This record gives sequence, C-alpha cells and structure tokens, in this order.
Amino acid sequence: MAMEEPMSIETENSPMDNLMMYESRNSGIDIMLSNPGSRCCACSQVSQGSCICGVVEKIDMGSHTGWLLHLTIVSTLLSLSAAKDNIAHGDLVRDAESLISADGRFRLGFFTPGNSKSRYLGIWFNTVSVQTIIWVANRDRPISGPTGMLSISGNGSLVLADASGTVYWSTGAAMGVANPVARLLNTSNFVVTGASGGDYAWQSFDHPTDSVLPRMKLGWDRSSGRNRNFTPWKSSDDPAPGEYSMAMDVHGDPQIFIMRRTTRIWRSGRWMGQWFTGIPEMTTYQTLFTFGVSNDANEVAFWYDTVNHSMLSRLVLHPAGVAERVVWNENTQTWNRYWFAPKDQCDTLSTCGPFGVCDISYSPVCRCVRGFVPRSLENWNMRDGTEGCMRRTPLDCRNGTDGFVKVAQAKLPDTSAAAVNYTMGLEDCRAACLRNCSCVAYANAEVAGGGRGCILWGGNLTDVRVNPSGGEDLFVRLAEADLGSSSAQAGRRRVAGITVAAAVLGLLVLGSMGWCLWKRRKRRKTNTVVLGMNRHRNEETSREGHGDLELPLFDFNTIAAATDDFSAENKLGEGGFGPVFKGQLGDGQEVAVKRLAKNSVQGLDEFKNEVVLIAKLQHRNLVRLLGGCIEGEERMLVYEYMPNKSLDAFLFDKAKASVLDWRRRFQIINGIARGLLYLHQDSRFRIIHRDLKASNILLDKEMNPKISDFGMARIFGGDQTEARTRRVVGTYGYMSPEYIMDGVFSEKSDVFSFGVLMLEIVSGRKNKGMYLSEPNLNLLGHAWSLWKEGKWMELVDASMADGNPMAEVFRCINLGLLCVQERPEGRPTMAWVVQMLGNDTETSLPQPKQPGFMATRRPFEVSSSGSVNEVTVTMFEGR
Ligand code: AMP
Repeated sequence: MAMEEPMSIETENSPMDNLMMYESRNSGIDIMLSNPGSRCCACSQVSQGSCICGVVEKIDMGSHTGWLLHLTIVSTLLSLSAAKDNIAHGDLVRDAESLISADGRFRLGFFTPGNSKSRYLGIWFNTVSVQTIIWVANRDRPISGPTGMLSISGNGSLVLADASGTVYWSTGAAMGVANPVARLLNTSNFVVTGASGGDYAWQSFDHPTDSVLPRMKLGWDRSSGRNRNFTPWKSSDDPAPGEYSMAMDVHGDPQIFIMRRTTRIWRSGRWMGQWFTGIPEMTTYQTLFTFGVSNDANEVAFWYDTVNHSMLSRLVLHPAGVAERVVWNENTQTWNRYWFAPKDQCDTLSTCGPFGVCDISYSPVCRCVRGFVPRSLENWNMRDGTEGCMRRTPLDCRNGTDGFVKVAQAKLPDTSAAAVNYTMGLEDCRAACLRNCSCVAYANAEVAGGGRGCILWGGNLTDVRVNPSGGEDLFVRLAEADLGSSSAQAGRRRVAGITVAAAVLGLLVLGSMGWCLWKRRKRRKTNTVVLGMNRHRNEETSREGHGDLELPLFDFNTIAAATDDFSAENKLGEGGFGPVFKGQLGDGQEVAVKRLAKNSVQGLDEFKNEVVLIAKLQHRNLVRLLGGCIEGEERMLVYEYMPNKSLDAFLFDKAKASVLDWRRRFQIINGIARGLLYLHQDSRFRIIHRDLKASNILLDKEMNPKISDFGMARIFGGDQTEARTRRVVGTYGYMSPEYIMDGVFSEKSDVFSFGVLMLEIVSGRKNKGMYLSEPNLNLLGHAWSLWKEGKWMELVDASMADGNPMAEVFRCINLGLLCVQERPEGRPTMAWVVQMLGNDTETSLPQPKQPGFMATRRPFEVSSSGSVNEVTVTMFEGR
C-alpha cells in the first residue's frame, strides 16, 4: 500500500464504477466503499500513513445502514489520526482507545481473541489486515467486558485495571524514574522511561509472549538474570501460556530449544556465526534477514533483524509447539511461511537415541555411529531408534589404544553438558579428549571460520543428524577394535611406537624380569586347560560331575549303550576329529556323539578347543553341547541331536532341495546370521569360527539352523580384531582371500564364509562347482557376472517354487555379494547384516564390487585333513 499518498483508499477486485468517495472534512481521510464482500482499506496522512482495513459487509447508500458504516470507519480513522504513542501519569488508555507507534506500524490496545468473549491488552501490527497479536499483557487474567483501562502510576508501574479497580496486570514500581512515561516504540517494544527518556525502567521485550520481532532478544540477560523465553498461546482463543516454550540454553555452546514442559523436543544446534548448525538453511536468508547471537559478559541471546525495515515479519511459537518464521506479503495480504521447525523426523530431538545418527535422506532414518550397534535390535527394527546404540567394544583408555571415527557433515550433538574452549586448536582438542577417559567425542568450536575451538563431550552423544548443507565434522572415540583397518593400523603403529619406546626403557631396568614373569604365567595358563582335561579323566565320571570347564561328564558305557556300541547304522557322518554317532540316552533323549579318532593329533587339539569354547556358549542358533566323556584313550563329546542333520545334505541334493522353500531358506540365513553375530559380538567372548560352511550348519526338527563344529574356532581378546596364523585351517571355497594368502583371520573372514554360504543357499550350488557357461568362474564369479548384467534372478535355485518374494531374494544376493568382497574392510559386520536382513525391502543396500576369489583355479596347492565332503585346507606358512 502506498503510504505516501495523503488520502488513499484501496479496494480489491472492485470495478471502479462501484466505488464512491467519501471526504471527511478536515480529517485528511478519504474512504472509498465498494460492493459488499470486498475489502476496503483507508489510510491517513495525519497519522503518518497508517491504515485500517476491513471487509465491507453491507452498503446501501442513502440508507441508514450505509451511513452507519461510514461513520464507524470515519470515527475509527479520526481516532487513529489523533492517536498518541505514549501515556504519562494521569493518562488512561480505555478499552476503545489505543496507542500507535510513531511510524504507525504497531498498535497497543484491547482485543478479543478468536471465539473468546474476554478482553486483553496487547500489541498487534497496525497496518496488517489480518489482526496479528504479537504481545499480550494480561495473558492469564482476562477482563470479562470492555471496562479495562491502562494507566501508569507515579512510581512508573503500568497498571491494567477495570472500572471497579480490580487489577489484572501490573509491572511493579520502576526504580529511579521521575515523571514516568510509557511509550510504544517503532520496534513494537512498549517501554517505561522518565519523561526525558533515558534507560528503560521496564520494557515489553523483556517479557515476551509467543513472538520474536526484529531486534528483540531471545535468551539470557546475565546482569539481571532474566531469561527471555517464549511461550505460545494455549489456543487461538486463549493467549494464556501453553505447554511449550522456546528458550536459550546457555550451558556448553548456547543453543535454542523448544520444550514441552520440561522435555526438550527440538534443538537449534550451536551457533555457527551466521546460522545454527541445525538450521543450515539460514545461510540462504541473507537477502531478507540478518541474525546474531551475542555471548558475552552481559548476555547470551539470539536476535534477528530485517534488511528492509519496512518488511513485517515475526518468529512465532504456535500452540502445538511449532516455531514459524513468517513475512507479510502485501500483494496477497497474507503471512507467508518462511521457515518452520520441527519439520522432519530428524528434527525431533534424539529420534535415533544416544550414539545414533539420523539421516533424513535414508529410510529408515536411523543408523548407529560406526563401532556402535543398536541397543535393542527388536525396537530398532520396528523403527524405534530412541534407545539408541551401544558400543561394540569397550574403550581402553588406560592403554591409550583408542582412536576416533569421523562423522562428517553432522549437526553436532547436544552441547548442553559439553566442555567448550573457544581458543584451543583441533589437534590439542583431540589430545585433550584422549587424556580424559570420560571423553567420548570432540569437534571444532569455530564461530565464524578459522578452525579453532574445542568441544569435548562426555556421556552420551544425543541428537546427531546428517546435515549435508551445513554440518560439521564430529570425531567419536572408538576402541581400536572398531576403528577399521586403516585407523587400526595407524593406532597400532602409534601403540607400537609407544611400546618400542617403553620397551627400550623397560629393558634397561625390568626387561628380563618382566619376560621371565610373562613366560611363567603363560606356561601356567596353558597347563590349566590341559590339567583341567586331565583332572576329568581321573575323577569319578558322572553326568553331574563338574570340572574346570563345568562340562557334565558321561561314562563310556553309557555312551556305548546309547549308540548301540558305535554301530555303523548309528553313524551320522564324519567330521574334522572323527565319526559322529546317533545315540539315545536312558531317559530317551536323543544325542549325537562325536568320537575322537585314535591317533588323531589334530583331532585332539580340535576336541580340546571345542570343549573349551562351546561349553561357554549358549544361543538358539548354536548347537548345544550336553557333555563329554574322557576315559582312558577315549575322548567324546555329546550334543543335542539334530534330526535334519546338516544343511548341505538338503541344499546340494536335487531330490531334497525342494524341501527348502524360500521362506525356510530365508529363515536359515537369518538364523545363521544371528548365531554368527552372537559369536562375534553378543557372547561374553569374541569368537571367530573359521570354518563356517553348509556342512557345519545343523538343522533341528523345525529346520532351525544351528552352527556347529568349533574345533577351529578362536577366542579373541577384548580389543583384538584380527590374528595371523601359520596354520591356515578351513574349507576351500569358504575361506577369505586374506586368510588363505596371509593367514589373517578376523570377524570379516567369517563374514566372507557367511557370504559364500548365503549365495549357496540362494542358488543351491556349491561355490567350488563350475558353470558350463563360465567354466573359469566359481559361484562367486558366476553370481557377480549375473549381478552385473542384471540377471540375478538366474542365480535362484530352480528347486524353489515360483512366487517367492523376489525383493527379499534380491536383497540376499546383494548382501551375499557384499559379504564376499575382496578386502575385509569392504565387507559388512554381522551386526549390519542382521540389521539389513531384518529391514524391509525399502532400504537400498550399497552396490557390491567384484568379489574376491572368483576363479575356479585354486591359489595354491592344498593338503587335505580328511574331511569327507569338502577339502579342508591345512597350510603351514613359512615366515
Ligand atoms: P562335524 O564333525 O561337526 O563336522 O560333524 C560331521 C557330521 O555329523 C555332520 O555333517 C552331520 O551330518 C553330523 N552331525 C554332527 N553333529 C550332529 C548333531 N548334533 N546332530 C545330528 N547330526 C550331527
């Protein structure tokens, strides 16, 4: 609207011939009235261009009604033109009266909100056709009728009372103010000063309601201790404070929060100099707004201003807890939404819980920081990430082996409890974190560039999200085992350096002594196992007998009777350390008995290993060891009997393969994955199986898979991620490249075997078989070549009935190929595999690259250790 026009009246969509001009003598006001239903604005030069607008409801020129309407508008404009912006002691602002800021943009007066009947004193935009209240005095003490009066007493207290003298709101005495005056400023701030101006003894900006206006401050005034927070109306009919609030938290690095009572529901993130880390889009607002956060001895506060001061805007907190920045559009006469929050799932505070990362561009939006796994996989899979993630491997602060993983482009975690230093450099920050055992992460605290500053987090990291357009690097502390190979190697190199230095010093003083002690301890440890085994032999054997390993013992005769004297009919198969027999104990329980072959040195090792390991484990997807037998030369292990024997018997037998429909195969894949995850991560130990293959998966009567044969398995220490052996044992076709080539085994070598197994389960073919079409390729090569050509469906076992959920099949092939990647770091963890298997098909998986070992040609000559079905490799590597 053209404010310069001395007498301007504008209408919308009205033909000119329907307008008429009314001139109010001496008022300086013209009014045009148009057809009923159209909007009409009248502006006055006398009151510095201020306008009133309204919808013309009834025009009947010449009639009584028409003139009444004219008179109402004219009298309003007359009062507007005569309006003041201040009151002094002795003045009153009555219900029908108001104060108008000098520039005419804001009005203070009485209003009735929505459908309410109550009267409130408030401030609103004077030149906006939609009444928009930005401040309310008596929010929770409404006046029931039009009897309210605002006055200012001699001591500077603003008082809102009714005709009977009942006080509804007052500001209290303003100290040291002579001849107080209350004035509505052009900023919308209603202030109390002395007659000659000076400092504000009171100001409405210190007592905000739901709206932040340009140059208003949200946050703390440190000198007065006043917290200027914002509370929405209860509803559009009731300006009383609602249950939400928007406030600045001064702890750590200042951030703005939206709270529902005491619960935080949204966080701006820390101030980055021009934007909040959680509102990266603020960087695009420069054409209309400027923003600032002051953090000094006087205050910690956020403010904004408009570049063009004639533009009207406000940041408002709505009753439902949504913050919205709006700008007034003169053309459409509406408030345009410029920004709002919370706006997506990741905006809700801590959607993915502690150590979770929210990424809105993925579905599901939650993932764990590397080195962490969901605290409750069940809830996580149900898309409830609020419990967050837990560390896979505990930190090892004392030995200094911890390192950091970078979470890039992050909205940094909540800094409320973080330690912040604005001058420290990033390297010092890292060192400070490593020195402090309770530090879990660090990041730069730079405020306008420069790469300086340090934030250290202890406890949980909450509310991390990926912010590609304005995020920062966050460095999360991890145990060495979870750092991944390059970081782990760097960590190991660092530790090695420290160790060498320590060793040089130590050698001078304690070297030989320490070595002797270490030797003695090692010897004693080895004996414990052997002695444990020997002691069983000498003890009276009974099913309840417990030795060091707490393994129930059976006597030889019991087992001989149960297996019909180890008859050939009862023989189930033959494994790494001897024949396996079916048996039935006296109480009717069916068992499988593994009998160590006489003269088998390797078998004896595997026997001991199996006892030591499997006796400590219990999981529905691991075969259960019921007891053992050690008598004379005899060594036997007694297991729960698996009526469906091993998976290979079904999978690779054309006659039986059809028993395994897709549902069963998928269930088997899931079960094996969970069993392996238990071995790698969820049991008390970190166990690498080393010989995962179809013949080592046993099936119970419901076809549930159980991993068996722990003869080659190895326990890893708390922070150990890989080991190297000179004796490479395993089964050709399932062994990973780094294990075969370098003897290096780790969780990832098991993952490789699992990947092979998965592809075998989908295809019903052995990895070592050849393909007529591609005679040089094994199953992995064949699967990869089909995958590349988009013909993955050709891999699926033809024995399976049609109508399988192909998305699930596709997912398994994709996962299988990811598991058999050439390099261990390219393969996922079992935790991730389990998670991905449990996910629905919406989430897309990473594209695999070419797998390791695709050719049928073997990389070296192998020696068989006597397995019947597969060639079990035993390779001694020279050093
Ligand atoms: P292993 O020594 O574990 O490789 O076992 C050799 C074979 O014996 C397996 O391939 C199975 O066919 C069979 N077998 C082993 N353990 C059991 C069991 N608990 N229940 C039934 N069959 C078994």
